Amino acid sequence: MQKKKIKIVIVGHVDHGKSTLIGRLMHDTDSLPEGKIDEIKTMCDSMGKELQYGFITDSLMEERTQGITIDTTRIFFKTDKKEYIIIDAPGHVEFVKNMITGASQAEAAVLIVDAKEGIQEQTKRHAYILGMLGLEQIIVVINKMDIIKFSQKKFNNLAKDITTFLNNINIKPTLIIPISAQNGDFVVKRNNKIKWYSGPTLLEALDLFKALEENQDGPLIFAVQDIYNWDKKIIAGRVEAGILKKGDKVSILPSNKKAVIQSIEEFNKKTIITAEAGKAAGIVLKNSPSVDRGDMICSQDDLPELSDEFKAHIFWMHNEPLTKNEKIILKCSTQETVCKIKKFIRILDSSTLEEKKKKEKIKNREAADVIIKTDKPIVIKNFNKVRELGRFILERLNTCAGGVITKK
Ligand code: GDP
Repeated sequence: MQKKKIKIVIVGHVDHGKSTLIGRLMHDTDSLPEGKIDEIKTMCDSMGKELQYGFITDSLMEERTQGITIDTTRIFFKTDKKEYIIIDAPGHVEFVKNMITGASQAEAAVLIVDAKEGIQEQTKRHAYILGMLGLEQIIVVINKMDIIKFSQKKFNNLAKDITTFLNNINIKPTLIIPISAQNGDFVVKRNNKIKWYSGPTLLEALDLFKALEENQDGPLIFAVQDIYNWDKKIIAGRVEAGILKKGDKVSILPSNKKAVIQSIEEFNKKTIITAEAGKAAGIVLKNSPSVDRGDMICSQDDLPELSDEFKAHIFWMHNEPLTKNEKIILKCSTQETVCKIKKFIRILDSSTLEEKKKKEKIKNREAADVIIKTDKPIVIKNFNKVRELGRFILERLNTCAGGVITKK
């Protein structure tokens, strides 16, 4: 069976141990390219240093940026259960932009905090961004536990401070794990000398994370992309959630027309019986009711709500600002409608996270919590549930902003 891939991002204040942790994860899961460890060992020896795991990461990142093609889907490490892709978070502007436009959207995050230094400025900023984006799968690791001699008391105090801070910005971390990235304690291997911590290692905890792609449990949502009138009318699209089955009773949104799936055709293949979330497929409906691009074909038993007003978080990337109530095109999956920002709840400068006093327009590189009003009702979902229906772009002649839906 193909392993599940999951995209994670590791964030934290500078020097709290991000590179060391990534190097450690790769090393301890035997995921390093051949010869890499010897190369780094020789380098550290010549500097009179013990092996620096952070150098492994730095060296690999360097190779990646020098490469002709930057492969953002490269697997960094794997376990029996999953393959992990680490998303680069070079600066917060890029990070927010990538996350929101879906260019390289992390599905889970690890927030790293130095055991001695505690919460610092970038810890706050990164955590704030994760919260703003609505990312739900977050693990906190308290690193460099060796420096505080694995003190349970110090760990508990810091864990309490972190929890309070995170709860204030609406983040509920899945776990807080004491680790030493440099020594490898509780990253992949346990440290049996530490008796007071019986929770999972970071890797065990990561393996429990869910990849956001699989939305097979939910009710069916099929996004219509194109209609082909061949010998029969084939409706091409993508299963955004649930499982498409031959014989399913469906409703076509927004018209609410009812229909039955007569057959499912996968391109260049014979007729198939089912197609699960994430798959592109062509369907034929009994009695060929009229269907348009942008329609959502959904399970009749559990219809998603149509909304024309919702809360979202947007990131503006255009020189011309967007003013409140100005009309702009919104594209979400295959749906397209004119919309406007009814209200700017708060506008932030994405590099300083300073909140703007005036809430009339959004300028280049600003991020905002907004209420959007669309001309036509559309099917939307929280982006942690159905990703393609939880994010959108705003367009004039070209893309001006990316957004994620935070609440209906
Ligand atoms: P980054 O800026 O967050 O990527 O931090 P680095 O991974 O470069 O680590 C910063 C410094 O902390 C380096 O000198 C590391 O060797 C050191 N460091 C990282 N993890 C640990 C740890 O678990 N224990 C100790 N004692 N030092 C660590």
